[in-house]
Amino acid sequence: KLHNTILELKGNIRVFCRVRPLLPDDCASTEMTVFSYPTSTEALGRGVDLTQSGQKHHFMFDKVFTHEASQQDVFVEISQLVQSALDGYKVCIFAYGQTGSGKTYTMMGKPEALEQKGLIPRSLEQIFQTSQSLLAQGWKYKMQASMLEIYNETIRDLLSTNRSVGPDNGLGGKQYAIKHDANGNTYVSDLTIVDVCSFKEVSSLLHQAAQSRSVGKTQMNEQSSRSHFVFTLRISGVNESTEQQVQGILNLIDLAGSERLSKSGSTGDRLKETQAINKSLSSLSDVIFSLAKKEDHVPFRNSKLTYLLQPCLGGDSKTLMFVNISPDPSSVGESLCSLRFAARVN
Ligand code: ADP
Ligand code: MG
Repeated sequence: KLHNTILELKGNIRVFCRVRPLLPDDCASTEMTVFSYPTSTEALGRGVDLTQSGQKHHFMFDKVFTHEASQQDVFVEISQLVQSALDGYKVCIFAYGQTGSGKTYTMMGKPEALEQKGLIPRSLEQIFQTSQSLLAQGWKYKMQASMLEIYNETIRDLLSTNRSVGPDNGLGGKQYAIKHDANGNTYVSDLTIVDVCSFKEVSSLLHQAAQSRSVGKTQMNEQSSRSHFVFTLRISGVNESTEQQVQGILNLIDLAGSERLSKSGSTGDRLKETQAINKSLSSLSDVIFSLAKKEDHVPFRNSKLTYLLQPCLGGDSKTLMFVNISPDPSSVGESLCSLRFAARVN
């Protein structure tokens, strides 16, 4: 492996918390700020306190980004992790939080404003830049991208050009089943996988995927906040002078909103959706929790998401979870839930 990262020394699961700024649409409240950041040496940059009904709850993470953190500030902290995919590591970066907490902003950002680009475009830019510069040392990389959505425990291919083929409906024989191969890797049958040679190419695929997601959105009840978005870049590198080979994977995941059942006032299809989301988010938490605790049995099979990502979670792979938090005083209950979820994982 080429570069050593600090992460290796600290184990393989990290949790970062990011509190977004208050927005004009947030519930205007005269209530005192509910979030504060301890400044003791131990907690500086890592602690966050949330005050609810006069009671202060204290949380510690590997890193806490306040509302003042820019996209660049966030990227600086993950760029080494992203880089390690070029060294042959399997990397997963998740964004967890209620709808409106800043998951998509963190992952994708606002592509129209350069400084607001999120970590997906920044990571891909860096990957292609670095792979170019490693050419001089004899490294040749081949990259393949795929993008999918998991909605109600069904996989939807976001790069399929055949839009009429819906999730798991069997039309055209597309089943999108998750398969584990002999090498312990997973793949999704019939999923579109595209060779990408430049940031520009992958960025146009991201655009296509976003388009395909928004088509689903009108048809399927704001599906995008109710589904997990999984971007996967497979990287294989060969060094022609040393004959070294590496196989890395970078998974960047914008999770479905974590808001609890009661709040969405669920009935019928909505209830089914919410149950599917709850199930997969709690499976994810169970998996990460048992990995962190180094338990023998890790319940990967309990959801599509964890089954798909199994080879990239645990072992010598690297996982980073962002817990995104809304500072809106009306969201304080959800924020507390998210912080507790993440603290469990941490
Ligand atoms: P989610 O994907 O979790 O539902 P979004 O990423 O869509 O949430 O964020 C909700 C709103 O807040 C969007 O308008 C987004 O642009 C804005 N937002 C989120 N995080 C930030 C941030 N760190 N700085 C500025 N605006 C943000
Ligand atoms: Mg979103």
